[in-house]
Amino acid sequence: MRTSFLILFGVVCALVSAKSYSHDRSRLVDSDSGIFGPDYKKILSQMQGWRDSYPEITQLLDYGKSVQGRPLRMMIVGKPGWQLDAWFERPALIITGSTHGNEYLNIEDRLPAEILKLSATRSAVQEYIEAGGVYLFVPILNPDGYDNRARENANGVDLNRDWDVDVAQFKGFKQIETRALATKLGSLRETMGLQYRASVDYHCCVGAVLYPWSYTSNPLPGTDLQAHLSLAKLAKELLNIDYGTTGEILGYYPVGTTKDYYYSEYGTAAFTYEGRYGSENQYLGKHVEWWEKISDKINKHELRMTRLP
Ligand SMILES: [Zn+2]
Repeated sequence: MRTSFLILFGVVCALVSAKSYSHDRSRLVDSDSGIFGPDYKKILSQMQGWRDSYPEITQLLDYGKSVQGRPLRMMIVGKPGWQLDAWFERPALIITGSTHGNEYLNIEDRLPAEILKLSATRSAVQEYIEAGGVYLFVPILNPDGYDNRARENANGVDLNRDWDVDVAQFKGFKQIETRALATKLGSLRETMGLQYRASVDYHCCVGAVLYPWSYTSNPLPGTDLQAHLSLAKLAKELLNIDYGTTGEILGYYPVGTTKDYYYSEYGTAAFTYEGRYGSENQYLGKHVEWWEKISDKINKHELRMTRLP
């Protein structure tokens, strides 16, 4: 009696542990990063802290509210007071994270502080800012998803499938988080004369850097492909990760991604950075080096794209 009870107990335990194992597997398939950050309020107060420490080159901009009413906030690092002249446009680099709210890497929310530190020392970052360059940070693009530890926004929509891609005849921007950011980027382009040169949207967990197109297997035009490859190869050298298009690396062709939007709308060298599960946060220094090298390429006019100088 006692023995059969123990056997039954053992079988139940085995079933329960198998179930929790398969649950963990599904979390991996959903590409949960395995890296946990502070709640969004803490991230907002960190951003305020950077603004207070570097007021002369830092602005915070709230560009809307999420579905659940959280502020959508970006930080702009660059020299203020540049007049917009017809002949001068300011290069801008876009760094975003947690478009998928459960793919936080703890890189996207520490890069701003590192860039600010470099702005105060002799570096490619300082040179870039002195020449009028701008860094635009949105550490948490999907704050409801982030606080709820969910891939989608509070309407249950995948925000990396909600960007306009005209060339694919795809209409996005059904969600406030994507629409408000795209509207703000469009207006900053006009008011500050920003020219979006490169963008990275931080995700998890493939261990690769992805470039356009994501919606089709058609390759980019030669010049643009070379520009993307030059930045992707830098990432490979520094971070020891793979690179390719979404289709080449993942075998599917999603429409409505951030990188297809930035590339098709602005001619930007646009990437999805897919960090490594549970460990990408160890490589902050390498990510900083990557951004230094990207800034340096722009300083030296070495990042040529078809639609940009
Ligand atoms: Zn993702």
